[in-house]
Amino acid sequence: MAEITAPRGVRDVLPDESWKWAYVLGQFRGLAESFGFSEVHLPIFEHTELFSRGIGDTTDVVEKEMYTFEDQAGRSLTLRPEATASMVRSYLEHHMASGPQPVKLWCAGPMFRYEKPQKGRYRQFWQLDVEVLGSVNPLVDVEIIGLSLELYRRLGMTNLEVVVNSVGCPVCRPAYREALQSYLRPHLGELCGSCRSRFDRNPLRILDCKKETCKAITEGAPDVMDSLCDECSGHFAAVRRGLDLLGARTHIDKRLVRGLDYYTKTAYEVLSGDLGAQNAVCGGGRYDNLAESIGGPHVPGVGFASGIERIVLTMEQQGCSFGRAPSLDAFVVCVDEAIRDEAVKLLYALRREGLGADMDYQGRSVKTQFKTASQAAFACILGGDEAARGVVAVKEMATGNQEELLFDDAASSIRSRLSR
Ligand code: ATP
Ligand code: MG
Repeated sequence: MAEITAPRGVRDVLPDESWKWAYVLGQFRGLAESFGFSEVHLPIFEHTELFSRGIGDTTDVVEKEMYTFEDQAGRSLTLRPEATASMVRSYLEHHMASGPQPVKLWCAGPMFRYEKPQKGRYRQFWQLDVEVLGSVNPLVDVEIIGLSLELYRRLGMTNLEVVVNSVGCPVCRPAYREALQSYLRPHLGELCGSCRSRFDRNPLRILDCKKETCKAITEGAPDVMDSLCDECSGHFAAVRRGLDLLGARTHIDKRLVRGLDYYTKTAYEVLSGDLGAQNAVCGGGRYDNLAESIGGPHVPGVGFASGIERIVLTMEQQGCSFGRAPSLDAFVVCVDEAIRDEAVKLLYALRREGLGADMDYQGRSVKTQFKTASQAAFACILGGDEAARGVVAVKEMATGNQEELLFDDAASSIRSRLSR
């Protein structure tokens, strides 16, 4: 029978990598909580309509990338491709608008998109996500961007580029759309197939195309800044002032429109100079019309999502620290099978002290056990002679110093040495 492997585009995060994820998640959690955000666990699947209406029917995510299936009762469900629409649904469903505003929430977990797998692009990937709902204040946009930059600073990431733009609002976007179409019309034949099909339905997305030929054409496209209404340009100026206050170095990219339709006003991305083609570590912005598009009242919102895989790739590339790799405090070396029971007792005494401790269960040679013990801070060596005298030989691996401790005191004594 053929061996079963993981489906294309999904991967196991094995122990040599998972501890790095735990570090990044821990830093993110601590930072988000310290900025006043609270955690929400959102469902992995939702009604398909949430995404088709929320993200937009003509986006790549909804048109080509969703994992949609029917359940036993014939409902159309979709594995979430992102978290923002779910977060807004949750806010509406739980009447969070009736409490103090804004509501600041975070979540982290896997997202699913049917994409062409490559380095930094998977079909299941994790996002760190923060959202502020219920405020139109530009300083809230600044808070979102500021939080992402502080995260990357704490993680030690460098060589990042922060690009911002405004995508306008329903008042000023139609005029920009028209200006853009007039500019693009003479070049229609030179655009790629998907951009040609976007021309009528969603011309702004053409600015986001990654094909070199399309990029060359959109280089000279009209600047969205020239079309913004007073409210949008005032908002954008306030966001830029706020970013200056933080000392954040950003620059405007007039072609940054983001792949999701719900954005209004602020859009931003953080790009890593060390990632190659999949260079976005973070994307976000304001989405004041998302709640209405999924059937709710008007609720302004702003947030970001950042991919853990791309964060970890960047950090590895840049040699950033992931904190201390997990290691054992003590390893019990059982020299004589006859006193295995004593060794087990010692192991659990160490564990009850809160220490990381382990032993061999395969009857391996003493030499092999010592090899494993060399990864731990202490080796606790127990032979027939020690057991008979009620002692343990404890060796500090870093120094090689060895001494005998009373069996009953060994665990607490090792713990106090470690805390010194
Ligand atoms: P890209 O342009 O690379 O496709 P995107 O604009 O589709 O990114 P967003 O929807 O803004 O991405 O998601 C936010 C972040 O999630 C991205 O900046 C990236 O770090 C991460 N991300 C998105 N898609 C993937 C994927 N398929 N695999 C790994 N990470 C991803
Ligand atoms: Mg994408």
